[in-house]
Amino acid sequence: MAVPHSFLTRGLSFTHEEPSSVTSTPSSPSSASEDSRESSPAFDSPKPAAGFDNVVDGEPRTTLQAKDWRAPANMHKKTFWERTWSEKLLTSTLMSDNHHYLKETNRGPVPSQPLWCDHAFLIPTTFAVPVLQHICFMLGWQWSKPVAFVIYFFGLLFFFQLSALRFDIMGNKYGLFDETFRGRDRIPDESVDIMGGGILMYFIFRVGYNITFKYDPTVAPLSEFTWTYILRWQAWFLIMDYFFYAYHRATHEIDFLWSIHALHHKSKHPTMAHAVLGTHAQHIMEIIIIPTLTSYIVPLSCGEQWVLYLCLAHIETMGHSGIRIHAPCTNTWLSCLPFGAEITIEDHDIHHRYGKSGKNYGKQTMMWDTVFGTREYRVETANCPTRWINDKF
Ligand SMILES: [Zn+2]
Ligand SMILES: [Zn+2]
Repeated sequence: MAVPHSFLTRGLSFTHEEPSSVTSTPSSPSSASEDSRESSPAFDSPKPAAGFDNVVDGEPRTTLQAKDWRAPANMHKKTFWERTWSEKLLTSTLMSDNHHYLKETNRGPVPSQPLWCDHAFLIPTTFAVPVLQHICFMLGWQWSKPVAFVIYFFGLLFFFQLSALRFDIMGNKYGLFDETFRGRDRIPDESVDIMGGGILMYFIFRVGYNITFKYDPTVAPLSEFTWTYILRWQAWFLIMDYFFYAYHRATHEIDFLWSIHALHHKSKHPTMAHAVLGTHAQHIMEIIIIPTLTSYIVPLSCGEQWVLYLCLAHIETMGHSGIRIHAPCTNTWLSCLPFGAEITIEDHDIHHRYGKSGKNYGKQTMMWDTVFGTREYRVETANCPTRWINDKF
């Protein structure tokens, strides 16, 4: 990925005394980020050494710190066929190199994304397979369970590919949070296998659960959607997020449960790939137990569950993307936006920077963090109003 010429050729002077030369003006969001990091022991405090260059060993610098202490990551240097099976599974989650490099300039105010942008992406992509199945059904071809599993499996893969491409374009265009301190983390070599296992479990369960327990080949899929869907949708997300909040907060606050979740927090500047960075116990809890329990409380048909699962995955990955935009959560805008309890990308990004001390435990909403007082102030998007329509984007 091309790096701005000026960034490669113009020498930077990273000095502790003059951080503003590489970050921003004192009133900028990035400055606020540095201030909050210094005032909070939960954040890494940058100690920029004097006189180092912006190119290290022929590569653009990845962090403002004197040395990048992150675990070795080499997957991106291999061709697809040189990669292990786990690495091949994670290939679609790789972002442009540009996401991982330190940026030298402040980009100005964070743009706000109106709700319709996510809706315009999600409606056609999440309904694509049910519509295809409906057309086949009307033409007299009823998909058997094995056929439905294969088509829905590749439908999920296609959805992730499109999402990754979209996040990559947005990240290059709008930048990443905290990018003047540190570029985004790569997929560490030591975690490739467990992340590959996580993504496999994600695919098999999210498709397999639906096909095994809910799929009926004799029913036209689009006829399963009823007018109460939007109400059950909101209830599902609020209840699921309550369970997730309780479990997630417990892993942070009860020491022996931290071992379940600590691996996920090895990344302080994640990309969408790090949504599956976690132990097997975490994967089982988050991919299987919590959503399944919720689906027993709030019933959904096969098609309804499919669309909801894809939108759930969208927020899970988008929340880890670090894209520097203010995007009120698509899934729960109806129930959360009126209360200012919507989740945005920066909320979970800040959660990762806190580590065990924790804040912002919600995954789909800020509702329970607001109710129980664990919500953290936003930094770079602090001045972004929540808007349904915004012409800045
Ligand atoms: Zn956490
Ligand atoms: Zn996370």
